[in-house]
Amino acid sequence: MDTTTVLWGVKEGDEDWRETVLCTQPERFEAVKAMATRDGWGRFRVATINLTKPPDFTKAVSMSACECGSPKAPGESKCRGCAIGGFPR
Ligand SMILES: [Zn+2]
Repeated sequence: MDTTTVLWGVKEGDEDWRETVLCTQPERFEAVKAMATRDGWGRFRVATINLTKPPDFTKAVSMSACECGSPKAPGESKCRGCAIGGFPR
């Protein structure tokens, strides 16, 4: 099985970002939701996660080199040294 389906929920009164994995068995989602709702949970969300594609940090790093040859963070256009005006000499 390459993907897993996850039911998330947020406890009443909690911020949205505090959502918690409630269940990973889709056949039980409705029952879990019913129980969780009685227990003060809401904002349910179902997401399918592809387990065959974990974040590949190694690849991201090896592909990210600044024009000066230093490693840089993925998404940055320059390494930290160049971004602040070059390495101190
Ligand atoms: Zn650089």
